[in-house]
Amino acid sequence: MAAEAHSTATLRLSVGDLKVIHPVTVPSAPVTAASVIPALQKLVNAVVDAAEAKLGQAGQAVSCRKGCGACCRQLVPVSRTEAERLLEVIEAMPPVRRAALAARFAAAEAVLEGAGLAMVTREARGDRSDRELSIGYFALGIPCPFLEEESCSIHPERPLVCREYLVTSAAELCAGPRQEGVTPVPVPKVSMAARGLQDEREDWFPLAMLMAWSRTRLHDDAKRTGGVKRTGPEWVQRFLKRMGGR
Ligand code: SF4
Repeated sequence: MAAEAHSTATLRLSVGDLKVIHPVTVPSAPVTAASVIPALQKLVNAVVDAAEAKLGQAGQAVSCRKGCGACCRQLVPVSRTEAERLLEVIEAMPPVRRAALAARFAAAEAVLEGAGLAMVTREARGDRSDRELSIGYFALGIPCPFLEEESCSIHPERPLVCREYLVTSAAELCAGPRQEGVTPVPVPKVSMAARGLQDEREDWFPLAMLMAWSRTRLHDDAKRTGGVKRTGPEWVQRFLKRMGGR
């Protein structure tokens, strides 16, 4: 079988006050948006690395450590495109692991239902602010279904927004109900550009509602199969346009 052709370009980006030079490689042929998520993960990693380097120059260091999952009880907003990628990741897991995950998602959904936070659409959020939703969500103490032994079980595939959340403050502060005293590293939120990548009306929903969201698409062939296809470079251009990159 012929190897899939790829296109590579070196991006030179001004992101906030960071300068990032990063080579990005994507499939040349038309693919689903979810297919370029691995390239976007690397791009976000490059932005985070630049933010960490700047922090180091200022004599500061990230205090996040493996085994500290306090922030993995926060509301993690994911876009449709990232959700589609995560569903592919889950699909490729062995059945036992998939079953364990399904049980954890069901448990999380049940708690969110009870608290009026089982949201998969913008309408379901009503007029509650993101801050209000975040505080209410965190108060429930729901571990992310991907959290195992206080570590991310899908670390290489974790959502873009998870990559962008790092702190310099003491770990115990992250467990406080309002995260008072927590000092996040100022990382530009490149992940926001994934929202609306396929359709400008698209929005976000909590990661813990991934399975509930996927059930809403069961009878929509176009959505279930990953939607419209574009070449990899076209998807990257759309992403850059959404993040205002140059
Ligand atoms: S996906 Fe991983 S890093 Fe993100 S909240 Fe869940 S366990 Fe934590």
